[in-house]
Amino acid sequence: MALVQCPVCNKRISSKAPQCPHCSTSSAGDNESALRIAQIKKSQRLMNQSFITMTLFIGGVVVLFWGGEEPEGVRLTAGAVLLTLGFVGYLVTRVQMVINKRKSV
Ligand SMILES: [Zn+2]
Repeated sequence: MALVQCPVCNKRISSKAPQCPHCSTSSAGDNESALRIAQIKKSQRLMNQSFITMTLFIGGVVVLFWGGEEPEGVRLTAGAVLLTLGFVGYLVTRVQMVINKRKSV
């Protein structure tokens, strides 16, 4: 028995359940394609997310290292925050992508 995401209410339900216990959507038949669509939408959202986090990371690098001199004060803080957010966000997004892909198999 595997847990799948209900395409309508996004709650976790059993893949064997004839219908979603939360919103009563039938998970038989054409729900298969609804799940595919939900998954494609999710992977597109993750693509956008990885693009945004990568931009943050590059922004942080630019703020920290642009011009060559040692960053100080606000510039150091802003750069470090951008760099960390971008890096962590990008890693989290990549992990989510792998999980999302694994679910589709
Ligand atoms: Zn549901």
